[in-house]
Amino acid sequence: MSVQPTIAILGGGVAGMSCALWLKNLGFKPIILEKNTCLGGQLTTLSTINLWVLGFSQHTSQQLADIYSQHIQSTDISVYYSCQLLEIQQNRLGFQMVIQKNTLSPETLSIKALIIATGARPLGYEVIENIEGFTPELISNRVFFSPTDHLKQLPHLSAKTIAILGGGDNAHYTAKDIAATADKIHLIMRSSATAQTLIRDDISTLIQQNKIIEHAHATITRIYPVQNKIALKLTQSGGLNQTLFVDKIFIRCGFTANTEFLKNSELLTHVATDKHYILTDKVKRTNIPGIYAIGDVTNSDDPSVVNALAEGALAARDVSQHLN
Ligand SMILES: Cc1cc2nc3c(=O)[nH]c(=O)nc-3n(C[C@H](O)[C@H](O)[C@H](O)COP(=O)(O)OP(=O)(O)OC[C@H]3O[C@@H](n4cnc5c(N)ncnc54)[C@H](O)[C@@H]3O)c2cc1C
Repeated sequence: MSVQPTIAILGGGVAGMSCALWLKNLGFKPIILEKNTCLGGQLTTLSTINLWVLGFSQHTSQQLADIYSQHIQSTDISVYYSCQLLEIQQNRLGFQMVIQKNTLSPETLSIKALIIATGARPLGYEVIENIEGFTPELISNRVFFSPTDHLKQLPHLSAKTIAILGGGDNAHYTAKDIAATADKIHLIMRSSATAQTLIRDDISTLIQQNKIIEHAHATITRIYPVQNKIALKLTQSGGLNQTLFVDKIFIRCGFTANTEFLKNSELLTHVATDKHYILTDKVKRTNIPGIYAIGDVTNSDDPSVVNALAEGALAARDVSQHLN
């Protein structure tokens, strides 16, 4: 019996799990290397119903993560948790990589291909840390960074004035969720709104009702505490300056790809990226033969479960057609 070629998948979110399943069914030995202690990636953080996955109309994203994770665990696909990639080098047969699980001694793996599926994360602290006047003490239960953390805050927002930073879908959904509870919402965006039409229409109605005040083309030039409020000094296009006094701030300024690890290995520093997102062709090959990238780490425009699932399948198919 011939030896099944080993393929390493870095990242055990939905993209990595999908790719592992396809690779297994195509006759490979996939190994998922996950830095956390569980599979599922971003889905594990989302407790709301996911309306976008055909056939799962009543499931939360967390429930989807459980279903996908249980599927992988019901197979013989190996998953290394708390695992990091220390080094990777190309050789005649593919790649030699050094990994470390937990605090155990580093381990060397020979692999035929590497699939990068490390996903993305919300931009957070970096959005405000360089604003004049900012100090970490300002944050304490007043500044929130994760896309759904306002849900837990809802009982505490009554009669409060809230600032939301960002003009995309997450900023708009946050504004809609808290509009029923908060007294006033300032939606502050660097350019103009980019949210999908349906949620944008809802927010436009709330703007007309004066529940939400939109500050487009606005920059926060100073942030500082005033009694029990936070002051935000805004400069808007046209030279308009004003200071807002708010109780809490929700930061919804988009995402960035998890690609910091590329700089740990000489070979991976040559992977082509654009604004931290990995560039690929349509079957998810990077510019380095034998290295693929799938899911949110390649996709700043249309991140979604179904795209991540499909990209895992595309890369696996290409591996089977060209690297077997
Ligand atoms: C607030 C919010 C709401 C959303 N709502 C929906 C929705 O309703 N419907 C929908 O379809 N999509 C939704 N999405 C998008 C969807 O969650 C993502 O597109 C999808 O989960 C991306 O999967 P992924 O596997 O590419 O990445 P991720 O889920 O980010 O997984 C990446 C994995 O890689 C691991 N990792 C990272 N770096 C390393 C490393 N160096 N070494 C090893 N492992 C690493 C991470 O721990 C993680 O497990 C939403 C996203 C957010 C943030």
